[in-house]
Amino acid sequence: MIEFVNVSKVYKTGTHALNNFNVSIDRGEFVFVVGPSGAGKSTFIKLLMSEEKPSSGEIYVNGQNLVRLKRRKIPYFRRTLGVVFQDFRLIPNMTVYDNVAFALRVTNVPSKEIRSRVPYILSLVGLSNKAKSLPEHLSGGEQQRVALARALVNNPSLIIADEPTGNIDPELSFEIVDLLSEINKCGTTIVMVTHEHDLVSEFNHRVITIDHGTLVSDDWNGGYR
Ligand code: ADP
Ligand code: ADP
Repeated sequence: MIEFVNVSKVYKTGTHALNNFNVSIDRGEFVFVVGPSGAGKSTFIKLLMSEEKPSSGEIYVNGQNLVRLKRRKIPYFRRTLGVVFQDFRLIPNMTVYDNVAFALRVTNVPSKEIRSRVPYILSLVGLSNKAKSLPEHLSGGEQQRVALARALVNNPSLIIADEPTGNIDPELSFEIVDLLSEINKCGTTIVMVTHEHDLVSEFNHRVITIDHGTLVSDDWNGGYR
């Protein structure tokens, strides 16, 4: 489902963010991406989302060759992904319900379907009782669950989470990853960037470590692949 072949990324400033990077992630996997600050994790995510193009190499996501993907096709490609960010990126003047419904409205999903899917997704993330709340009235963990609901509502085959627990308390962080793990059990591929080693060690998922723009290890918690 995800294939990086000899990918290098050199920014205009001359920084080599990724050097001959190779990785292969199958459909249905849950992968943590770890590594020190400046290692190239965000660059990996930006390439994965086609927010940046590689300087060389090939990237395939869901059967699409991202190097050849035309600029005008990028928005359609992005809709096949669910993305969750550290800073939630909710729309502040919209209720929880509308934040999730909005993701469907922009893709012209019929309102009858929206009325059935939004409550279902909110129940999945445990926020049925917060549907009418504004994001500012929710805790950090709850806001991230809204962001997750919004990412899930279009049934993406791949969820990309960039430091999703960076702004929430440790015990709530566990809940978020637990929720992602449940979603993963239903077949959705998850790629999650984090620098929280304690969190990573609580789950038995694949862990890839990036350092200085290369993949330096690829393990399972508790054993080598
Ligand atoms: P991480 O997410 O692991 O902290 P990044 O992918 O953000 O690492 O950064 C990798 C390297 O690329 C760093 O040296 C960073 O300063 C540099 N970098 C990241 N984005 C840009 C950019 N848009 N322009 C120039 N350099 C960048
Ligand atoms: P945390 O301490 O975990 O950040 P909060 O104290 O912000 O959580 O919120 C605790 C609970 O109270 C949450 O369920 C939140 O939705 C609710 N809540 C917080 N502030 C308000 C508010 N102004 N109006 C309605 N509900 C609120």
